[in-house]
Amino acid sequence: MPGRVIKVKRRENLGWLERTYLPMIIAGLAVTARHFFRNLRGFITGNRTTFVVQYPEQQLDFPDSFRGQPVLVQLDNGQPRCVACGLCEFACPTDCISIVPGELEGHGIERYPVAFDIDMSRCMFCGLCEEACPEEAIVMSREVELGKFTRGELIYEKKALLVPESKLKRRLDFLRSEYDREHAPPTPSDATDDA
Ligand code: SF4
Ligand code: SF4
Repeated sequence: MPGRVIKVKRRENLGWLERTYLPMIIAGLAVTARHFFRNLRGFITGNRTTFVVQYPEQQLDFPDSFRGQPVLVQLDNGQPRCVACGLCEFACPTDCISIVPGELEGHGIERYPVAFDIDMSRCMFCGLCEEACPEEAIVMSREVELGKFTRGELIYEKKALLVPESKLKRRLDFLRSEYDREHAPPTPSDATDDA
């Protein structure tokens, strides 16, 4: 289902003052100055809590629209929601998704990912895989701690990508509101072996 379209009205006739750009320049400088003086006050008084996060002890609660590491939605039965249609692989601009599909017989879904890898060293967190997926099977999580020592460690296989659906609820709710979806797509009744 297509996303919501917001039409922005372009103003054709600007007044002489607006054509000088001065009002917007002044507004921008006012925002910068506000942050500058707030931070300066924090440095002087020692109260830096308004602009410093004591990471990693303190973690930010990212907004629901935040795009961290793409992950696979794991159903209650432990299997991925993915049906290996390949749309995310096709949509990915950096070619970092690799899927090996398998076929099922006598199950609610016919295809499943035998292998599903994402090379996080190439991922740019654009979210196009999530947008392309018709099954809500791949979503952008809040995970950002992806530091590794080798590039090989950044290739995440299916097991490492699976995250229980319950832990992704906020993101899934956000997506449904963005795409005007009332419910999740039908859940595959059962899937296969080795998630
Ligand atoms: S977020 Fe973008 S770059 Fe990363 S896997 Fe998805 S489509 Fe590819
Ligand atoms: S994650 Fe979604 S788009 Fe990608 S293969 Fe699975 S079902 Fe298709």
